[in-house]
Amino acid sequence: MKIHEYQGKDLLQKFNVPVPAGGVAETPAQARQVAESLERGPFVVKAQIHAGGRGKGGGIKPAATPMEVEKAADQVIGMTLVTPQTGPEGRLVQKVLVEQAQVIVKEYYLGIVVDRGLGRPVIMMSSAGGMEIEEVAARTPELIIKEAVDPAVGLLPYQTRNLAFGVGLPAEHLRAASGFITNLFNLFVSLDCSLAEINPLVLTASGELLALDAKINLDDNALFRHHDLASLEDPEEMDPLEHEAKKHHLNYIRLNGNVGAMVNGAGLAMATMDLIKAAGAEPANFLDVGGGASAEMVANGFRIILSDSRVKGVLINIFGGILRCDRLAEGVIQAVKEVQVNVPVIIRLEGTNVDEGRRILDESGLTFTVAKDMQDAARKVAALVQ
Ligand code: ADP
Ligand code: MG
Repeated sequence: MKIHEYQGKDLLQKFNVPVPAGGVAETPAQARQVAESLERGPFVVKAQIHAGGRGKGGGIKPAATPMEVEKAADQVIGMTLVTPQTGPEGRLVQKVLVEQAQVIVKEYYLGIVVDRGLGRPVIMMSSAGGMEIEEVAARTPELIIKEAVDPAVGLLPYQTRNLAFGVGLPAEHLRAASGFITNLFNLFVSLDCSLAEINPLVLTASGELLALDAKINLDDNALFRHHDLASLEDPEEMDPLEHEAKKHHLNYIRLNGNVGAMVNGAGLAMATMDLIKAAGAEPANFLDVGGGASAEMVANGFRIILSDSRVKGVLINIFGGILRCDRLAEGVIQAVKEVQVNVPVIIRLEGTNVDEGRRILDESGLTFTVAKDMQDAARKVAALVQ
């Protein structure tokens, strides 16, 4: 789960990672009030969207006075911000973060991710701050210093020193840098993050180290133990169908093709997507209704697939184990009664109560094409959407 910069900075503060003084606003007047409440100007007004590169896209504006903050917020709120990370369609800005402008001496990069190969969190730091780390890794990998942390031992002081020295941080800031890195690491572990990225981390003219930006991604699979964090989700930033699917506890990811696929089990869903591609078509989504899905979940999944206007055909591929074929058939029929189905539907059923499932579908009076196996199903649906 992604969160906004202003939410990330609230979390950083809780873990004693220093950030510029500031506050969030939803209207230009509020933005002005935030500026007035801060001890000093000048300010920056920062568009809050779930994508980076805002500086380049015109989503970060300097402002000398609270009056100028109001003006800048008026320009930014409501704009569709296009950055290298949003794609050409951009994102609608609904909130801004107003904060004190900093006099930047040097920008650094600090990021923590889980390295799946090593099975450990890895802290990366670079003197090439402000740039995308992927770009730095491709062009000047020697500028990235890495430290993998053994979860049983924890982060050790020599590691934070290696990072800070490695990026050439002046020695007098070493203690502050070690504290900064350690606190960010504690946040990463305590909140079950998949990413904690400070880009840039800046050294200011007044000799402070500050997190000027904050990109914190939380591991969805761990949200069950952070109920207070789940509320940080911004549905406006999510794909509407993905948002709907999440409400129904469905594993749904929107893709670019036109064959809607409903499958039980993530492995079978991946295999089904491969077969759709092999048959010359493109899947419109990944949807795993789960092994223990109810008829209602199947109905919800089907409804979500059909509400995607790009879908020109649907492939339902179910191996009836815990989810029995008769239940699936009932779910599909329930969904068809609720929504208008204007596209061909191919069903491949196998497993527990398969005959009962087929009978229910046959007797429903609805027109489904029943395929004899997976490959047949993929070929049929591919032929129909072309
Ligand atoms: P993004 O990564 O989306 O472009 P950042 O928060 O990293 O957004 O900001 C981009 C640039 O804007 C920074 O590298 C910095 O130069 C400038 N900037 C951002 N916040 C401040 C601030 N509080 N004071 C001064 N400059 C800032
Ligand atoms: Mg940034």
